[in-house]
Amino acid sequence: MALEYGLRALPVEIIHDILSRLHPADLLHFSRVSHGTHSVILSRSAEHVWRESFAHMGFHYRTPTLSLPQLASIVFEERCSYCGIYTDRDPLHELGLRLCGGCQDTLIAPGNKILKSFKKFPECDSTYSMVPRVIWSDERRTTVKQRGPQSAFAAWNPTDNGRNNQYFKPMLLYAATTYRQETESNRPSAKIFLKARREKAKNLIKHAIEVTQWIIDVESEHAKGSRC
Ligand SMILES: [Zn+2]
Repeated sequence: MALEYGLRALPVEIIHDILSRLHPADLLHFSRVSHGTHSVILSRSAEHVWRESFAHMGFHYRTPTLSLPQLASIVFEERCSYCGIYTDRDPLHELGLRLCGGCQDTLIAPGNKILKSFKKFPECDSTYSMVPRVIWSDERRTTVKQRGPQSAFAAWNPTDNGRNNQYFKPMLLYAATTYRQETESNRPSAKIFLKARREKAKNLIKHAIEVTQWIIDVESEHAKGSRC
């Protein structure tokens, strides 16, 4: 609390300069200390604080699909984004989530299984291109490392998604339900919805590749350092 009052006595530029030197996980923890630190650290004017904090970690976010506080939580906090319990499972960056084993078992499934009881409609198969498919951490890491980001994206482009790929159930059901309602009503917004969701799915895959590349680079730097 004393630290919070001390910070308030300083000009905001100085506060931001101090905060930007913290690790993103520490920024996150500090934002939860009080209402005051929450409003300072999570305000729009503090966005550059987060960018600089991540930059010190070697990460320059080129495709900002998540907010940096969200990203910090997923990367550095071992907690299920869905039920909140502790988990040591790797994040599923293509979903912008970290899921515990129980939630993965319940909520990740092949597309044809998720939409089994779903009422079909003529454009139903387009639904799969509106959400990112799940790419398990080992596969993502190996492909990005061996083939590079461009080739990895080509391998996971959501327009190639099919019914046998794995998906996050709430995401696929939301896309399918909304798209069906829009197409059955012959609304022009159906095409807009399709285009916007495809764009979002592409950005999530790009985000997953970017974050994975960063983690590989950090590990590689650590390995070099430990050899010296
Ligand atoms: Zn969970």
